[in-house]
Parts: sequence; C-alpha cells; structure tokens
Amino acid sequence: MKSKIVNRRMLLHTAGLVAGGLLAGAGSAYGAARPSGSATRPVTPDEAWATLREGNRRWVADAAIHPHQDLARRTEVAEKQNPYAVVVSCIDSRVPPELVFDAGIGDVFTVRSAAQTIDPLVTGAIEYGPVELATPLIVVMGHQRCGAVTAAAHALHEGITLPGELRRIVEALRPAYDRAHGDVDKMIRINTLDTVAKLKADKLLAPRVTRKRLKIIGAYYSLDTGQVTRLV
Ligand SMILES: [Zn+2]
Repeated sequence: MKSKIVNRRMLLHTAGLVAGGLLAGAGSAYGAARPSGSATRPVTPDEAWATLREGNRRWVADAAIHPHQDLARRTEVAEKQNPYAVVVSCIDSRVPPELVFDAGIGDVFTVRSAAQTIDPLVTGAIEYGPVELATPLIVVMGHQRCGAVTAAAHALHEGITLPGELRRIVEALRPAYDRAHGDVDKMIRINTLDTVAKLKADKLLAPRVTRKRLKIIGAYYSLDTGQVTRLV
C-alpha cells in the first residue's frame, strides 16, 4: 500500500516535470503541439502575423495551448530575448495581448496605452524592438467598446475638460473624433489606423518598412467573439 502511494507520487512528480517542460523535448507529448523555442520563431513579417493569427484562432475556439509559459522557456529567454512582434494595444483589462494571441514570454513586446494612442515616449518604446532586435512586425490593435475612446468622445461632444493628464488622451483622440461623426466604433477604427500611419511615417521605422524588413498593420479585437480582424 505504502509503495503504491510512493509510486503514485513519483508518477505525479514526473508528470509535473513533463508538463512543466523540464523533460519536454523532441518527440515528447508536447513536442508536436507546442512551439518549442527559438528554432520555430517567425522570421518574416508575414510569418509573424501568421503565428499571431493562429494563436488568436486558438483563443477564439477556447483551445489555447499557452505556449512558452513554462520553466524551460523562462530559462531559454533569461539571458536574451528575440520577440517576433510588437503589439501596441489599449490598457483595457479585457485585451491582454499574450492571451488574445495565445503567446508566451519572449514572444511579443507589448506596448499599451489608453486607446493605443502614442506620443514620443511611447513611440520610443515601439521603436525599440524593430530597431535594436529587428522585430519584423508591429500590430496596432484597437478593440470593441473601448472605454477610453467612448469617454473621449463623450468629453469632446459635451465640451468637458477631463482632470489631470486624462485630458491628453482626449486630445490625442480628437482627430479621430472629428472624422467619426459620433460613431464610437468608427472612431476606434480610425484612431487605430491613425496610429499605424504615424508609425509608418516614423523616421526610424519608415526605412525598415520600405526595405520590407518590417510590417506595421492595424487590427481590431472583438470583445464579443475574441477575434482579431486585420484592418490594414
Ligand atoms: Zn480601450
């Protein structure tokens, strides 16, 4: 009886190691399904987008595999990172990029601000990956029912000045508001594309786009379905 318990414990321990990635390698139960480190890292902009899309498909289908979130991955990227994309998205608690794209640590730079608005400081954070590490893709992602856009639209419509630095978010969204004619969802999409246009014109990023080393795309996340749709 006692030995049975010990054996069962050992079995569980071993199973835990496998699940934790310590024993996972080529041919393991996880080897085929899990992206296994830098060997499978997307290189081109299109490969990077395909990987994100595939991850989002799993997220939509409630079939996330949570890649690159184990001890093996943590160890692999502890000294050096090489993410394949920069995701620029909103601070919204319902739109965490790593979950939405079913990615893990070392996979994506995430830059988040209210309604993915940018200023020079935020732009510097976005430049870092493509300029220093040749990250091949930037995805600017707006989302359905964005609270920041909704609040800004309301403030601009009513002529309300928000307190503190919140007013800067409103001002950053004014150009999109002016073209959306009261349609908040349209304003979300316009603002996302505005951010894409600004980044494409950035003096460090533009030459990389011209040389096709970098793509900058706009996307829209549906809170209802979990789906990310490409805008441009
Ligand atoms: Zn938002």
